[in-house]
Order: sequence, then structure tokens, then C-alpha cells
Amino acid sequence: MSKKTSLKKTKESKIDSKYSMDTHLIYGKNVSNKWDYSHHVTAPISSSTTFRLDSVERGAEGFLQFAQTETQGDKQPIFIYDRLGEPNKDMLEENLAYIEKGEMAVTYTSGMAAISAVLGVLTKSGDEIITHTTLYGCTISLFNNWYPRYNIGVHPIDLTNLKNINSVLNENTKVIYFETPANPNMDIINIIELRKLVDKINEKRSVDNKIKIVVDNTFATSFSQRPIELGSDFTIHSLTKGMGGFGTDMGGVVIGKNKYRDALLLYRKDFGAVLNTKSAWAILTYGLPSLALRQRQQIKSSIKIAEFLENHPKVEFVKYPGLKSHPQYKIAKKQMLDFYGNFAPGSLIYFVLKGNSPEKTKENGKKLMNYVADNAYTMTLAVSLGHTRTLIEHPASMTHSVVPADKLAERGFEAGGVRLAIGLEKAEDIIMDLEESLKQI
Ligand SMILES: *Cc1c(COP(=O)(O)O)cnc(C)c1O
Repeated sequence: MSKKTSLKKTKESKIDSKYSMDTHLIYGKNVSNKWDYSHHVTAPISSSTTFRLDSVERGAEGFLQFAQTETQGDKQPIFIYDRLGEPNKDMLEENLAYIEKGEMAVTYTSGMAAISAVLGVLTKSGDEIITHTTLYGCTISLFNNWYPRYNIGVHPIDLTNLKNINSVLNENTKVIYFETPANPNMDIINIIELRKLVDKINEKRSVDNKIKIVVDNTFATSFSQRPIELGSDFTIHSLTKGMGGFGTDMGGVVIGKNKYRDALLLYRKDFGAVLNTKSAWAILTYGLPSLALRQRQQIKSSIKIAEFLENHPKVEFVKYPGLKSHPQYKIAKKQMLDFYGNFAPGSLIYFVLKGNSPEKTKENGKKLMNYVADNAYTMTLAVSLGHTRTLIEHPASMTHSVVPADKLAERGFEAGGVRLAIGLEKAEDIIMDLEESLKQI
């Protein structure tokens, strides 16, 4: 991709390649016209906030080109200023769009910035959003603490039963937003069926008024699931997690149709949540090329660890999409697939400890966390996920502490629930540490 040959115009979303996705994760889609370094094998970190313009005419042309996807096409971009675009981010965006089967991608400074941007572009005052009950804690906080002042209504319902949509659907509904698998309880939403349902509702709506499906694909990563292929309009990721993979950089991305690229770029330019070039570079250079290797290893370990936990006498239940006991196992088998069609149930496990009351379970959960924090070599008490190291956390008191204790059940998870994000250690070592830690409660 470092060669500057002319790019044949191809239909963006459907490129038939003779190469495998493992290879494309390293090289990207094709020869990139964003590549500004003709003799480098690895792109240098583009650490320049501003760009030299050959003439005032070129500067003017650059401004005219910005956020003009339709007329710009595959033309070589004129770089002006980092907040508008620069080579590292632009190359990362090309690759992300390609692996996730979207037409375009726009990156942001974090996953939350990506969520705010896509919803900011799709809604205005008076509109309504339907969400699943279980969501990442800060997404709940965004909806509860900020959206009321924009007069945007948010309806959390149980989307594992799609019939529930009818109870909150109305002409102001503009977006259906959810995570699958959901953080932290691993609920799975049927994207294919939801697409059919939304298509029916949309039949009666004008082009500009159609409901959009937005999926947060952070838990699965592009390796294990591509929601756009299944029927979502947009996919977002926190690149901070499994996509970045090493826990060194924050980032977020919105992937979808070309039609929305300009609005997403303008939103980023004006609200300012620009992905740092150094982070874009790290995700492009380390994250994506190692994604397939990391995910395959983590999934293999996760299956072993989920089975171990499911058979452990101190564990009440385990929710992992790779276990037959998962309530939506059949849906998971249809939509969580790697690039080659193999079942890819991801690297996140949710489990609940036994205890004869919620208080007791919660106490056991805390005891386990504290023992792990002090003693376990292969598990670290920390939020985040998709790291090289296995991370364990207690959602009720950490990532989801925004949910009050009496609302946990309503939000679909347990006071004593534990979230385990499997890293790259040997599965047997993690199991050894889990076994030892579970003895303490
Ligand atoms: C972490 C996370 C986010 C937020 O991403 P940041 O990069 O931390 O802003 C959003 N959704 C899910 C499911 C997450 O796990």
C-alpha cells in the first residue's frame, strides 16, 4: 500500500479480493492515496498539526474539498490542519471501513466521542432513541445526564425481545441503539431480525425520516462480528479496547454509509473530538495487524475459562456467547462469525457468584476482586477490556456505578456479577489463578 499507483475506482463496500482478511488487516484495503511517505514500509507518526500549502489557491481548494465526499471521490486529499484530517487518521479510517464492511469510517478521540458524534448527527431536539436496557455505564450517563437538556428522549427496553419496540415506538423515534454483546451482561440482540422489523416500520417513512440502527461493536471487535453485514446502518467501536488491543491508546470510530461521512467530519471539526495522530498510528501499526492473532487466541482461552467457571460449584451462572447455556446462543452462532465464517464468541465473560441473597453475592464478588487484586498474577483488577492482560472487574461498583443499587435488575445485571476480559496469557494459568481465588470465598 505504500506504492503511489493510481487507484482503480471500485465499489467501496464490496471489493472482491483474492487476499484474506488476515492479510488486509496488515495492508489495508488497497493502495492508499492518503499515504504521504513514498519510501517508508511503516507509516511514520504524522506529528504535524498544520500542513504547508503550495499556494493560496491550493489552500482554498483544500477548504473547498473538506467534507465533500461526493465530489472528492478518490482524489488525493489536500491536508490543511489536523482537526480536518491528516494521513495517519485517514489511513486508519480507510482500513477500519474496509474490515468492517462499511463504505466509510470517521475516527474520534474515544468511544464515547464516537457515540456522541453518530447520535449527534442523527438526532435533534424532540427526537427519540430506543436503546437496550443494558449498556456501557458512560453511555447510560450520557443519556441520563445530558440528553434531557437537549430534549432528546431515550427509552431503554429489553431488546432481546424485539416485540417490546412497539411499546415505545412513535413518529419521533429516529434511532435504535444497542451493544451486542452488551456490557457487562453479554445479552445478544438479533440484528438480522431487527433489520427486517425496522425495514417494515420505515416503509411508511420518508427518506430523511427513516429509523437508523446503530450498533456498538466494541465487545466483539471487527474480527468476531460485522453488524453492517447483518443489517445495522452504523457500527461504532471504542478503539481503546480490543481493536487497539494493547491498552496504550484511546480512540473511537463510526462506520457507515458515505452519505453520512461529511456530517460526521463536520461534527468532529466543530465539536473537536479529534483522534490523536499518535494513537491513530498505534492502532494502525500494532492494533489492526495483530487483531486476528489476538482474537483467535483470546477466544480459544475464553471458551476454556467459561467452561471451567460454568462447572465451578461456587458459580451461580456464566454468560458467555460460546456456551450453549447462553440464552441467545443460537443468535450468537449466526451473527458472531470471524471473517471466514467460523463461530467467534469473543473474549468477554460475565459470571455471577453463588450466595443466598443479593447482599451476600455482592460481598462475595468484592471479596473475590480484592483477593485477585492482591494475589493473582494473571488477572488484574481494572476496567477496560481487550488488553494483552486479563482484566477483571465488578460492574456494580466500577464501570456501571452510575446505575443505583435498586436499578441493577432493571438494567439487566446482578449486584454480584463479575466481568472478565481475557488477555493473551495461557488459559491454564488464568484457570489456576481463578481456582485459587474462588477458594477464598
Ligand atoms: C469502553 C466502552 C465504550 C467507551 O469507549 P471509550 O474509548 O472508553 O470512550 C463504549 N462502549 C463500550 C461497550 C465500551 O466497553
